[in-house]
Amino acid sequence: MNRRLQEQLEAELQALRDAGTYKTFNCLDSPMDALVQMQGRGEVLVLSSNNYLGLSAHPSVIAAGVEGLRRYGAGTASVRFICGTCTPHLELEQTLAGFLGTEAATTYVSCWNANEALIPTLTDGNTVLLSDELNHASLIDAMRLARPARKVIYRHSNMDELRDGLRGCDPQQRKLIITDGVFSMEGDLARLPDIVQLAREYDGVVIVDDSHGVGVMGATGRGVPEHFGLLGEVDILTGTLGKALGGAAGGYVAGPRAVCDVLTQRSRPQLFSNALPPTVACSAGAAIRVLQSDPGCVRRLRDNTAQFRALLLERGLTPLEGESAIIPILVGETALAIRISRMLLEEGVFVTGFGFPVVPEGTARIRVQMSAALESHHLVRGADALARVIGKVQAAG
Ligand SMILES: *Cc1c(COP(=O)(O)O)cnc(C)c1O
Repeated sequence: MNRRLQEQLEAELQALRDAGTYKTFNCLDSPMDALVQMQGRGEVLVLSSNNYLGLSAHPSVIAAGVEGLRRYGAGTASVRFICGTCTPHLELEQTLAGFLGTEAATTYVSCWNANEALIPTLTDGNTVLLSDELNHASLIDAMRLARPARKVIYRHSNMDELRDGLRGCDPQQRKLIITDGVFSMEGDLARLPDIVQLAREYDGVVIVDDSHGVGVMGATGRGVPEHFGLLGEVDILTGTLGKALGGAAGGYVAGPRAVCDVLTQRSRPQLFSNALPPTVACSAGAAIRVLQSDPGCVRRLRDNTAQFRALLLERGLTPLEGESAIIPILVGETALAIRISRMLLEEGVFVTGFGFPVVPEGTARIRVQMSAALESHHLVRGADALARVIGKVQAAG
């Protein structure tokens, strides 16, 4: 390789190692579940996956994927509009629209792609993008690909700043208000009732990426709109199939038929990149059907979240408050968060620590994510380990 590039990359990697932020993979030898087999460690309790409903190893989800592989092969070898659309794509899109209460839905190989498809396609030179500062990286990058008249980045959930941003737009401008449904580092919810209200007042369009909300929030898992009693009131939803809805991969845009149709005609990630593999369309469709036939798994997730929060409080730990299945525990310095997560893993409990630059300096955290796959004794074991390790580290100062 080019020597200068080689040296520059080595220096960059060394800087990451020196800063203690160099990442290594933990390799699993089993399906994602409450307990997994981790190479070099054996059985580990997982409190850190997006497998919120425990569906990624559900027998019907696996069976649907296997059947899809048999019937449709490994993949489409084509983009959607040439010869890459199979029955499972159309079925999944119908299932998604029915589940989310939208007119239509269209799928992508990831929610990352869905966001990068949606936002640039709906943005013209007469569009203003209004975005929460804590939005997911895929929304931020999607906005970077778009060429709007202007961007307004409002402080996290600051509705006064959003209102000011909307007020500052010309009446004939297209105004896209873009927000996460559940914010992934804080675990808090977008102030959707206020956002929808402001959009009505100022003729804005609401786009919610509900990747951490779908399958999690609302009595039947339809996400943050259901939680707030706003089903059918959000203009456009995006979300992932790689979290609660089976955990494989894939993403969607759900909303009015005209939006999905324009995306099919013009969105570059769908025009120039392969379709979702049919096997994944099959397993994701099965995950949604399991959820629809047994909303009890959403209740189990909610009960586990309440129980785990109570166990933490009993042990003197005070997580950030919130209603989602993300439970962050602030610990301060980045190095501390990394050390805690490493010590937990030595005890067979897998929880990720996040520090700067993912979150602001001094607010490093251990991020616990709940799952319906966890049983009571797992929760007790996890809370005990967290209290023990955090106590030990803080005592050591
Ligand atoms: C996880 C996540 C994504 C990415 O989803 P993929 O399908 O894995 O690309 C996008 N947006 C938000 C808000 C997420 O939490």
